[in-house]
Amino acid sequence: MSLLTSLARQVTQQATIVAAQRVAAHAYHLTLASPAFVDWKYVPGQTLNVFFGLSARGEAATLRKRTYSVWDYNPLTAQLELAVCTFSDGPGARWAAQCQPGDEVSFYGPGGKFLLDPTATGFALLGDVSCLSHFYSLRRQIPANVPVISVIHAPHADDCFPDLDGSSPLHFVVADRLSAEQYLAAAKEQGLQTSPQTLIYWGGPQTTCVAGHRLLQREWQWPDRLLKTKPFWK
Ligand SMILES: Cc1cc2nc3c(=O)[nH]c(=O)nc-3n(C[C@H](O)[C@H](O)[C@H](O)COP(=O)(O)OP(=O)(O)OC[C@H]3O[C@@H](n4cnc5c(N)ncnc54)[C@H](O)[C@@H]3O)c2cc1C
Repeated sequence: MSLLTSLARQVTQQATIVAAQRVAAHAYHLTLASPAFVDWKYVPGQTLNVFFGLSARGEAATLRKRTYSVWDYNPLTAQLELAVCTFSDGPGARWAAQCQPGDEVSFYGPGGKFLLDPTATGFALLGDVSCLSHFYSLRRQIPANVPVISVIHAPHADDCFPDLDGSSPLHFVVADRLSAEQYLAAAKEQGLQTSPQTLIYWGGPQTTCVAGHRLLQREWQWPDRLLKTKPFWK
């Protein structure tokens, strides 16, 4: 066994899949339960690192770690929800599509820094559908009187899915692709430029996040303290 695999085995904990359901053309909703979830100090925006290939006898080559946003956490049942997209067809996507109730999952967490800042006086949530559960978890905790701008890119209408309570509080843009300029144009239509106190969360593909971050800094003179960028995938 490789050193990496042995280390991962020592630090990970176990959860069980309670339910797995397809919620969109390219997304699965997974419910996980674990004694380790009892008494979590949950902060919206936290993530879970899921490990694949740990049970195989194999070497480090089979070991994969993928990060998923906690869509919701229920302290009473010690369960949490994930939404995993399958556009990538990689190890994470294949795992989600094949998950069955009773399956064991190795995880590490919770963690992450792309967290809700409850002191912000306005929010803009920008990213693709792989960020949707993340942004739903933030949106749920934002008071109704605080303005929220959102631009969620989806390749097709059937890639969009609602929040866990069936509501759809975020604004989708359905298009083949969406450039950083197009994200900002859609956000501007919702009043972004006139809300200088807006805290922007930008997730999704790395190239768009980086381009958007630069545009906001250089052309919009957006203050760094109001800009949180987190690439979800390369
Ligand atoms: C903080 C954080 C939170 C995240 N939360 C979530 C989450 O809640 N749900 C979720 O689905 N993912 C989330 N991700 C992304 C996730 O960790 C994986 O990167 C993603 O699921 C792809 O893993 P994979 O093994 O299926 O594919 P990989 O083997 O990693 O990628 C295979 C190929 O697919 C491409 N690809 C990857 N993702 C996408 C995509 N969304 N659309 C199109 N092409 C893609 C890659 O560029 C690569 O070429 C998060 C990432 C971070 C950093």
